[in-house]
Amino acid sequence: MTDVEWEESMTTEATTILPAVTRFLQRQHGLLIDGAWVPAQTGATFATLNPASGDALCEVAAGDAADVDAAVAAARRAFPGWSEMMPAARERLLLRFAELMEEHRAELAQLETLDNGKPLRVAFNVEVNVAIGQMRYYAGWPSKLTGETYAVSSPGYHVYSRREPLGVCAAITPWNYSLVMAAQKIGPALAAGNTLVLKPAEQTPLTALRLGELALEAGIPRGVFNVVTGFGATAGAALTRHPGVNKVAFTGSTEVGKDIWRAAAGTLKHVSLELGGKSPLIIFDDVEDVEAAATAALWAIFANSGQNCVAGSRLFVHQAIRQPLLDALVAKTRQLRVGPGLEEGVDLGPLISQAQLERVLGYVRRGQQQGAELITGGERLGGRLASGYFVAPTIFDRVEERADIAVQEIFGPVLSVFSFASEDEVVHRANASPFGLAAGVWTNHVGRAHRMAAALRAGVVWINTYDWFDPAVPFGGIGESGQGRELGRQVMEMYTELKSVWVRIA
Ligand code: ADP
Ligand code: MG
Repeated sequence: MTDVEWEESMTTEATTILPAVTRFLQRQHGLLIDGAWVPAQTGATFATLNPASGDALCEVAAGDAADVDAAVAAARRAFPGWSEMMPAARERLLLRFAELMEEHRAELAQLETLDNGKPLRVAFNVEVNVAIGQMRYYAGWPSKLTGETYAVSSPGYHVYSRREPLGVCAAITPWNYSLVMAAQKIGPALAAGNTLVLKPAEQTPLTALRLGELALEAGIPRGVFNVVTGFGATAGAALTRHPGVNKVAFTGSTEVGKDIWRAAAGTLKHVSLELGGKSPLIIFDDVEDVEAAATAALWAIFANSGQNCVAGSRLFVHQAIRQPLLDALVAKTRQLRVGPGLEEGVDLGPLISQAQLERVLGYVRRGQQQGAELITGGERLGGRLASGYFVAPTIFDRVEERADIAVQEIFGPVLSVFSFASEDEVVHRANASPFGLAAGVWTNHVGRAHRMAAALRAGVVWINTYDWFDPAVPFGGIGESGQGRELGRQVMEMYTELKSVWVRIA
């Protein structure tokens, strides 16, 4: 079946596993080091699970410090050739990589759904297609990097700057959007002329391995892109300490982000961190369409089963529309179909793991203990879903502002609802968080929209929408949500050094 046929059938029938995916799952998976697939030096492997069933999908290599050494050495050897390659030649290779991702997109989507659990349509649209768009965008960057000239006040000098690659970069990625998080690091790192070691999350290593195969097929020279699967405390930590790594790009939890920053300080490597959030979505009483605002609030929190760094997990509703908005939101929430991601018509898949399930249910219990009113959801789903990690989408009302569920990132389908009376008040309450990743505002008042955009402490503010991304638009957090930016032109600065050159010309 071709991708196109499959795309059409996907909308009409439950999906069968593509032969290419079956073959992938049956292959032995090593680490991609220096253009070859090799086992971990210890020979260790681990199973990656399907969170919809708890069953093992396949075994992958458990790389650790010795494998990281080998991967970094390979990346170091590949660096001169890659960084000195003509920009047009690098662009062609990266474009070919993007094309191969596109040719294999149905396969990548199924792999992501199997490994992560998300609905197939979401894997296809929000994961695979977004990753391909990013790769194409960054493929065009090698020929667009520029330095500047400077108007210095010393006579007889010509001064300019050059943007040069950093060297060997490490990308450490999470499991919630495995492909997108990988692509948004691979793309700019390679486009800028760096070489890379990718350490995907241990929960979802499969699409990173498939990307490694496609990169080889695209002709990206050996050692330029290496993939080391393994655990955070071993493979991940080895990358952050390694003296041969010039930059670590990390997306994940705030707690691990802080560890990584500390570890990287030993060798003063560049670090960019895209961490957690507790993002506010604020709905004013001047909205034209309460239903549309409720739909926005629904997806802001429940997209990807709430396992989303920008999840709108704090909903502030103006008191004048509180009841109609809540009624609409609860009705929509109860209509969400939760189930295995490969099943047709499913809105929400399972949580990623048993550990995540327990963590989320722990928050639900604490929410109740701390006096919040559970208005829908709150339980693990049983019956035919009992072996997977499924939780009903959950809404708490009348949440005390200092309750754990109001303050901490849950990373699950749990929403806290608050009501407010004035613009000043809601700005103050929305900003009262150590996080500052994203914020949403629904209002029909143009002045208020821009006042709110300026006043909210967040790396991105969405007005009358939520959760939009584009490769051209920078993304990142403030405070405990991170350091640096990904995407856009700005990320190219995060993968290059600026060198100033003084030339005496008189
Ligand atoms: P979560 O808690 O949601 O699984 P983490 O922040 O723990 O998210 O994981 C994100 C990524 O960071 C994963 O690839 C994981 O293996 C890696 N990781 C975890 N701990 C460390 C660490 N101490 N050093 C480097 N990488 C780590
Ligand atoms: Mg998995």
